[in-house]
Amino acid sequence: MNSNAAIETLFDSSLPAAQQPAWPDAKALDSAIAELKTLPPLVFAGECDNLKSMIANAAEGKAFWLQGGDCAETFAAATADSIRNRIKTILQMAAVLQYGASLPVIKVGRMAGQFAKPRSNDSETRGGVTLPAYRGDAVNDLEFTESARTPDPQRLVKVYHTSSATLNLVRAFTQGGFADIRRVHEWNKGFIKDSKIGPRYEAMANEIGRALAFTASAGVDPEKFKTVDFYSSHEALILEYEKALTRIDSRTGDAYDVSAHFVWVGERTRQPGGAHLDFAAKIKNPIGVKIGPKTTPQEALDLIARLNPSNEPGRLTFITRMGAGKIREVLPAIVQAVTQSGAKVLWVCDPMHGNTYEAPSGYKTRKFDDVMEEVRGFFAVHKSCGTHPGGIHIELTGDDVTECVGGGEEISHDDLATRYETACDPRLNHTQSLELAFLVAEMLRDR
Ligand code: PEP
Ligand code: MN
Repeated sequence: MNSNAAIETLFDSSLPAAQQPAWPDAKALDSAIAELKTLPPLVFAGECDNLKSMIANAAEGKAFWLQGGDCAETFAAATADSIRNRIKTILQMAAVLQYGASLPVIKVGRMAGQFAKPRSNDSETRGGVTLPAYRGDAVNDLEFTESARTPDPQRLVKVYHTSSATLNLVRAFTQGGFADIRRVHEWNKGFIKDSKIGPRYEAMANEIGRALAFTASAGVDPEKFKTVDFYSSHEALILEYEKALTRIDSRTGDAYDVSAHFVWVGERTRQPGGAHLDFAAKIKNPIGVKIGPKTTPQEALDLIARLNPSNEPGRLTFITRMGAGKIREVLPAIVQAVTQSGAKVLWVCDPMHGNTYEAPSGYKTRKFDDVMEEVRGFFAVHKSCGTHPGGIHIELTGDDVTECVGGGEEISHDDLATRYETACDPRLNHTQSLELAFLVAEMLRDR
């Protein structure tokens, strides 16, 4: 059997797949898929394996995971400035977290592929007009017109090329000297100096500076300071796309989804009898599953049995998104059941998706304090369970948007209109992201 035939029969196409677009033209879809199948991989299986071994370390308490980026990437925002600002923000956060944790930080972008969104409603009505909901640039356009909202499968091909261009820049920035830890520290010093809230975090930034000066004074100039490993990730949502980019690894004969290093299954598509779990079970990448406040301990065990029956280290990450008010109540029983079962998973906190609400002005927003409170709850639960608070998953941008309220800049509900740019959920801006990193670094230091 050749590779393509092996992939055709690998997945069970009779299973129901939630949250898939209603593509209006089956022929057009087939031709987009056929084109995707001919294109080279965006990532290599060996890189996915490297990430998996780093996740295995993190699951043992020997590393910390930082995953961040847009809720929904857009084609329009795949510019050099926007990509660079996001990478810079993530690297700045990672430097602070690494110092706080005294552990390596695994850097993962919600980037170079995060173009599709699950929606609560299939349609949206404005002023008496009903159109298909926006499902991300992978499917249709945000503009509220019939032609913009009609799903167009050629967009999947554009996702591939935009992801490719984004990854190219990511690789250039992270391997080409731009990401040198000393340079990242200079950016953090700039943040401390220029931001109104900087002085609050000055002491820790100074400590990092002294640690770097100490290594320099010892004549240490390791290559490891100059480059960073940066991985790509997105929600594996549009199965046509993910399957078209699944390839057989020539080294091992195993199937890898080469659209990203890490993919996750969302809270709305993890039905036990659904096509998304079937897909995730059959690829070899390290994978994640979002788990929300209604998850039972038994469901978590069932997900493990399904997705990592051999307890392969680094294979499975649970991204918990409970809400600030629920995490302390719901998470302990799940963590205890998983720990007792002997299963090894990485626990990551998504403090964004359980804390979204509508501001009086109608904007979807999140409070910085709720985000921090969920992270605090996450650390407290893992402390009481004797498990490692393994990482954070953040919706963020490197720009000065006004989408989440609060933080040291005290963004108010009235400020949201100033610069509300997200195509989907509200993101922490550059300053809020760094502030979060300093606060989480304190939690890591004191854990
Ligand atoms: C998301 O990550 O943007 C998302 C939709 O999350 P969840 O599946 O946790 O709701
Ligand atoms: Mn989101």
